[in-house]
Amino acid sequence: MKPAINQVDVAIIGGGITGTALFYELARRGDAGRVVLLEKYPTLASVNSDGHNNSQTLHCGDIETNYTLEKALQVRQAAQQVIDYAEALPANERERLILTYPKMVLGVGERECEQLVQRFDTFRYHFPEMELLDAEGIAALEPKVVAGRRERIVALATRDHYSAVDFQRLAHSFVAQARHLQPRFELRLASPVTAIREEERGFQLTTAAEQITARAVVVCAGGHSLLYAQQMGYGKEYACLPVAGSFYFTPPLLNGKVYTVQNDKLPFAAVHGDPDLLTPGVTRFGPTALVLPLLERRHWGTLLEFLQVTRPELAVLKVLGGLLKEPEVRAYMLRNLLYEVPGVGKRLFLQEARKIVPSLQLGQLQFARGIGGIRPVMIDKVEQRLRLGEAQIDPGNGILFNMTPSPGATSCLANARRDAERIVSYL
Ligand SMILES: Cc1cc2nc3c(=O)[nH]c(=O)nc-3n(C[C@H](O)[C@H](O)[C@H](O)COP(=O)(O)OP(=O)(O)OC[C@H]3O[C@@H](n4cnc5c(N)ncnc54)[C@H](O)[C@@H]3O)c2cc1C
Repeated sequence: MKPAINQVDVAIIGGGITGTALFYELARRGDAGRVVLLEKYPTLASVNSDGHNNSQTLHCGDIETNYTLEKALQVRQAAQQVIDYAEALPANERERLILTYPKMVLGVGERECEQLVQRFDTFRYHFPEMELLDAEGIAALEPKVVAGRRERIVALATRDHYSAVDFQRLAHSFVAQARHLQPRFELRLASPVTAIREEERGFQLTTAAEQITARAVVVCAGGHSLLYAQQMGYGKEYACLPVAGSFYFTPPLLNGKVYTVQNDKLPFAAVHGDPDLLTPGVTRFGPTALVLPLLERRHWGTLLEFLQVTRPELAVLKVLGGLLKEPEVRAYMLRNLLYEVPGVGKRLFLQEARKIVPSLQLGQLQFARGIGGIRPVMIDKVEQRLRLGEAQIDPGNGILFNMTPSPGATSCLANARRDAERIVSYL
């Protein structure tokens, strides 16, 4: 039997937090015509947007020491859009997807403490809720962070703000709201798109069950977005460095989110600890930063796809070589590899986690098996550098490709507004 042909105005590929936020945003605007969302798995947001696989943090720019003030303000604005969305929901729904925890970034030792004191001076006017805490102030919020510690510590903290999100639930909520606003919007689960072909008046998408013609397409398929772009001849200037993040569980030790100061030489986020939203009674420490040759964690079938987007070409090797030239980065990458090794990993990670809870014992740490996703970091082959943060390929012909490492989930609605605007003006 020949597959059915369906015509839509906009097709979104990928039902993670990025694709579902766009689905919602197009429904809210109501000016995009017929829209279909295609997700390859039977459940929405089961890859990087699943709360088991990310850090569940609504990044607001206040505790991320790797952000400049400008970037912090941008991220805070994006986070506010998620808060505004959640606050418009009935309380029983809201409480299941967004939570308030105390949140802090901890400086340990003179150098980090001075860095945070200076940061406070610059940031306090823009983040009036931010407090500079000494050891006593920290102990009032997080006693285990102070107990048994000798070095000086300070923290930049907020007490009463939304800081944790179950992004998978949020994705479900976006889709439910979208279909309430626009009952004609369609969702197809278990529908992997196997081919995207450009045609004279749009694009033809192939799934096992149907052919879909769409006037515009937005690909929100995580690391796979780059693969699909390159298969169509776009984004050849990029390769992908997939950075997996694993976590360790402990008994409940922290009341809220405790981040650590980012080492400027390292391109990946520093470890933090926080209560796990999805496993009650557990504190999670992580994520680690393990470079893995996969586009999707624990799916070894994506090894070949990784090799298609990241070939061992000179430009890629130069970027990787540049990274590895730094002894600190080399040591960090090796340590992150060893964190995965049973026995050794736990002992090494203990040293890292003790920066947050000095009294943590080896027997309290347990590797969180099967947990943690992948951040598809872009390698810019032309500029020969890593492009940290989100990236988009927009060839200008009605198709967009989104690659969204952290804080992609926090920025979901801000990105959706940008994409909806582009797509609707294109249509
Ligand atoms: C360890 C870790 C910690 C993180 N912590 C945070 C955090 O605290 N806060 C934050 O804001 N961000 C965080 N991030 C980043 C965040 O998880 C991602 O930015 C976000 O989940 C990306 O969402 P997405 O929808 O773009 O991609 P994904 O969630 O990966 O979704 C892509 C979807 O596309 C689907 N798909 C792929 N190919 C096809 C196809 N051919 N056809 C149909 N569907 C397809 C997939 O099945 C998947 O559902 C973290 C990431 C990691 C790995």
